[in-house]
Amino acid sequence: MLAEKFDVFLFDLDGVIYIGGKLLPGVKETLAQLRRLNKRIYFLTNDPIPTRRQFVERLQGLGIEAHLDEIISSGWATAKTLRLMEINSVYVLGSDGLKTEIRGFGIDVVEKSDCQAVVVGHDDQLSYGHIRQAIQLIHRGAKFIATNVDATFPGPEGPCPGTGAIVSAVQTSSGRRPVIIGKPYPPMFRTVLDHLDPHLRVAMVGDNPYTDILGAHQQGITAILRSDKAVDFPSPKDFRIPDARITNLKELFTPAITARPWGKPPYAWPETVEPAVAAVVFDGDGRILLIKRVDFDVWGLPTGHIEPGETVQEAVIREVYEETGLRVKVSRYIGVYSDPMYLVVSHPSGKVCHYITSCMECKIVGGYLRADCVETAEVAFFELDNLPTNLLTLHGEWLRDVLNRDNAGVLR
Ligand SMILES: [Mg+2]
Repeated sequence: MLAEKFDVFLFDLDGVIYIGGKLLPGVKETLAQLRRLNKRIYFLTNDPIPTRRQFVERLQGLGIEAHLDEIISSGWATAKTLRLMEINSVYVLGSDGLKTEIRGFGIDVVEKSDCQAVVVGHDDQLSYGHIRQAIQLIHRGAKFIATNVDATFPGPEGPCPGTGAIVSAVQTSSGRRPVIIGKPYPPMFRTVLDHLDPHLRVAMVGDNPYTDILGAHQQGITAILRSDKAVDFPSPKDFRIPDARITNLKELFTPAITARPWGKPPYAWPETVEPAVAAVVFDGDGRILLIKRVDFDVWGLPTGHIEPGETVQEAVIREVYEETGLRVKVSRYIGVYSDPMYLVVSHPSGKVCHYITSCMECKIVGGYLRADCVETAEVAFFELDNLPTNLLTLHGEWLRDVLNRDNAGVLR
């Protein structure tokens, strides 16, 4: 029985507690029963429109016990994050409720003047002029913050465009990626989890695999899907696969329903899988070329992406030339590397990529180490028996595969 397995329940609202303002069956009695058993309850909603107080009133109006400190809404969490970022003035594409939450943290909401951040929430009165102003403020240096990026939300007559549609418009035109506060990103989960005794057992109950289930799994907690339909993802390693599914909240008390244990892998969930190349370049004396980028205090092999239309050989030749000024030719394939433990990379922008890297041995055929390369990185040749200690772990493994000639063509 799921109710027995957990001490704290995080409930999504839309699609779990109610749909379009109508309470779902089994909710009222299940929440009351959980409270009788002294379970802790929080409501985590990506809906950025109402204030937290309005959510309490809405739930109480539906006959559900709810308290202000149990409501974690994306609008309120955004306002709290703005305060932590020491932002004092914002332009808001969003509801009056969102603006109220932001002002509640002592932050000015401006209409025309410059500001420190543009906040995008849900605004059903949105116009072209609002989007234009948002992107011009971002262009002039304002930070770009989104309450959430849900593609849709459930309406009584079917799905309605969610905040994600508005965020996409601003993102497309500004060319900037926002800081995102709502599920599946960490801030709303951390607001609860950071204040709980770590021994408490926590489960998220949500209806959306892309926000509720993924977000819970990223934080290492169990995720229960409330849905009439099973969800399916091609890989069994997918973070969006729930640990249990229920159709009605009452099933938290069904003896036969249990959850698989969730063990979070030690890498973030990648948004994209991208092809990449790496070069093992020897000079005439058998020394190996390594690069240490100024913003990254470890040595590594020259690596890079593949341009549209390029072969992996063309890509590795171009990358080595761009990074060092040396002309090379590919002499041997070393292997294709794909282990997410090493090849999932979280970029400073927030983007997380899983790189599938083709590693090739290369020989220098011309060029010279260019001075302009040395400005952005340190480039040097190393004897194989005297490699730097701060060499990327994975690149060290690739080098071992290069030196072990029998290992050519390995897959990892
Ligand atoms: Mg939902």
